[in-house]
Amino acid sequence: MNHDDLNHWSKRAADWARDYHAGLRDRPVRPAITPGEIAAKLPQKAPEAPEPMERIFADFERIVPDGMTHWQHPRFFAYFPANAAPASMLAEQLANAIAAQGMLWQTAPAATEIEEVMVRWLAGALGLPARFSGTIHDSATVATLSAVLAMREAALDWAGNAEGLAGQPKLTLYASDQTHSSIDKAARIAGIGDAGLVKVDTDANLSMRPEALAAAIEADRAAGHLPIGVILAVGGTSVGGTDRIADCLAVAKAAGLPTHVDAAWAGSAMICPEFRHIWAGVEGADSIVFNPHKWLGAQFDCAVQFLADPSDQIRTLGLKPAFLTTPEADAPTDFNDWTVPLGRRFRALKLWFVMRAYGLEGLRARIRNHVAWAGDLAGEIADMPGLEIVTAPMLSLFTFAAESDEETARLIAEINAEGHVYLTQTVHAGRVAIRMQVGQFDCTREDVMAVAEVLRRHRAGRARREAG
Ligand SMILES: *Cc1c(COP(=O)(O)O)cnc(C)c1O
Repeated sequence: MNHDDLNHWSKRAADWARDYHAGLRDRPVRPAITPGEIAAKLPQKAPEAPEPMERIFADFERIVPDGMTHWQHPRFFAYFPANAAPASMLAEQLANAIAAQGMLWQTAPAATEIEEVMVRWLAGALGLPARFSGTIHDSATVATLSAVLAMREAALDWAGNAEGLAGQPKLTLYASDQTHSSIDKAARIAGIGDAGLVKVDTDANLSMRPEALAAAIEADRAAGHLPIGVILAVGGTSVGGTDRIADCLAVAKAAGLPTHVDAAWAGSAMICPEFRHIWAGVEGADSIVFNPHKWLGAQFDCAVQFLADPSDQIRTLGLKPAFLTTPEADAPTDFNDWTVPLGRRFRALKLWFVMRAYGLEGLRARIRNHVAWAGDLAGEIADMPGLEIVTAPMLSLFTFAAESDEETARLIAEINAEGHVYLTQTVHAGRVAIRMQVGQFDCTREDVMAVAEVLRRHRAGRARREAG
């Protein structure tokens, strides 16, 4: 396989991609396969001799598509979306062709500078003040970890980096009980541990209670612990739980603690000014993460972290061994200093392509549709006998349930086994609930309303079974 062959096969791949996407509606969203089935189709060992690409491609077509959950399927309503707009796919193809390693400005000048500009474009698009700079990580998990490491080191005056954590006071970090497991993971990796991550009580609206936050910080300080920072949620993964950002930021500020806001999913919706009340006050945060790879059309991996002042994070994560120093006199940005891994992909290119190919207006129109259609569907489900809305739509996410946990579990199992739509479940306030989110880039109102049809059909089937 050489570059001339690559040219030929790239065209074959582009044709395949078009047909794959055009045919998604006719496929089940999830494959009807069992664990081990795909692995069993592969030889036990790597080949010793080269194989022709014709055979490799044929095996790809034979084995892979039918063995995948189709995240770009317009009736994918599970988890959160992982959108991939066509313009994003094209940008990724070009970034792959260049295959640069963007650790330093010198190793990827255009990638570095386009990343800086894209962070500025996005800050403006989300209504954040121009003083925010930032960087692009692979995932919100790593962005949050980076923020937590910087919080830890600032609290320890960089003694953790220098000497390790032994002998330090117990470190404490604060988040609501609605925050994502990536915060628990960051606490573990950063040496804070489950015991140091204080889950602050939430109110009936699933918002962290600011008084409870203030009390927890005060109690920990009185006990000789070292609070390092506060993490707030905008659009929690389970049911969209959102902290009262301005009130909680005020508590953190009064306590002298830095803050990080996890808006991994909901952040994309902030390109629409009418939704910004959800995170009112966010401009007071020190760090904010959102994933364009969820709802904005720039495909995985693309997690943007905005920073009011990057210097603590750079001081925490930046390392310059002799082999990484470069001669540029005006010290351009070396983005590896801002992140955990040294190596970095050219992720900014897909943001550049997506924002230009659809325009912010085009992206807003999609998100507005998704929110409206989720509301329409929730209204229909609310009217269905035996079904009830458990949590009302937060943007395009809501949950619903049947009469009992057993019925709800059976309903979602039946629906997903059928594969026409794909939904996942959560547990809210001790009750099993089905999560429904609208966000796939190409979905239509009909795709969303297909969920109502599926529900009616399954409920009718159940009623027949009970009658018979
Ligand atoms: C998806 C999600 C994350 C994790 O995102 P990754 O980019 O996969 O690490 C974190 N927080 C929230 C609220 C999320 O929805």
